[in-house]
Amino acid sequence: MQKDANEARCMEELAFMKDFVRLCDDGYRQGWHERNGGNLTYRMTTEDVAQAQLFFNGTPYEWTPLDVLAPSMAGEFFVSTSAGSYMRNISSDTSHYVGIVEINGKGDAYRVVWGFEQGARPTSELPSHVLNHAVRAAATDGACRVMYHAHPSSVIAMTMVVELNARTITRLLWQAMTESILAFPMGVGVVPWMVPGGADIAKATSKLMKTYDAVIWASHGLFATGPDFDAAFGLMHAIEKAAGVYVRARCMNGGSDNFRNTITDEGLRAIADEFNLPINEAFLEETLI
Ligand SMILES: [Zn+2]
Repeated sequence: MQKDANEARCMEELAFMKDFVRLCDDGYRQGWHERNGGNLTYRMTTEDVAQAQLFFNGTPYEWTPLDVLAPSMAGEFFVSTSAGSYMRNISSDTSHYVGIVEINGKGDAYRVVWGFEQGARPTSELPSHVLNHAVRAAATDGACRVMYHAHPSSVIAMTMVVELNARTITRLLWQAMTESILAFPMGVGVVPWMVPGGADIAKATSKLMKTYDAVIWASHGLFATGPDFDAAFGLMHAIEKAAGVYVRARCMNGGSDNFRNTITDEGLRAIADEFNLPINEAFLEETLI
């Protein structure tokens, strides 16, 4: 899949950038990105940076404070969507709506080295993303590279009617469809409603990211992470699918959550055993003996 860098004539032809753009298109087609909703960052590998450097700006922009401190991300390069960008436009004007930023040696500032043409700048959620990248990288021994934020309808709707805690929402999603516990065996974190775009929501989210690879923002959307674009997109897709099943079932049930059939805790444990999953035991009821 990795295209030889020597064949690429521009940044947009490099494999990681193609994958980045494809995820934006895929997310838009799912209906998760109304207007300028959502954002995406990717922590580049050493190989990516070596290939991309050929196309970096001659003179990088000035350093800009990040407003959060992420020392472990010092010297890392991130691909990021721009503030205010519409996901549906990413593929047609990538160098305008996408850019690459370098993090400074302290992990508290960034500068643009490619893209963000015509005065664009990184997503306002960049502090959240970088802080969460730091946490997920530590939690996964460096494997996690993709941080994806979207506004999927069913997840948002669910946060309007169910108790806002990770255990409750995770259990409802696990019980809704068999795939759920396979896709997110540690569960999904939940941040209560907060003002987006600042350091406070970034810190609240990053606390949860120590445990979860996906975090719901109540009445707002969802963050999904993963080692590659397929994993992050797939996680977003699976959580939204399960939330959609829950929403439909509840509608069909006259609004009641007293369902006739759901997957039992014994059933969830059996799936975890069968697939040897690192399941979050605290989210299952004690086994009755
Ligand atoms: Zn959002």
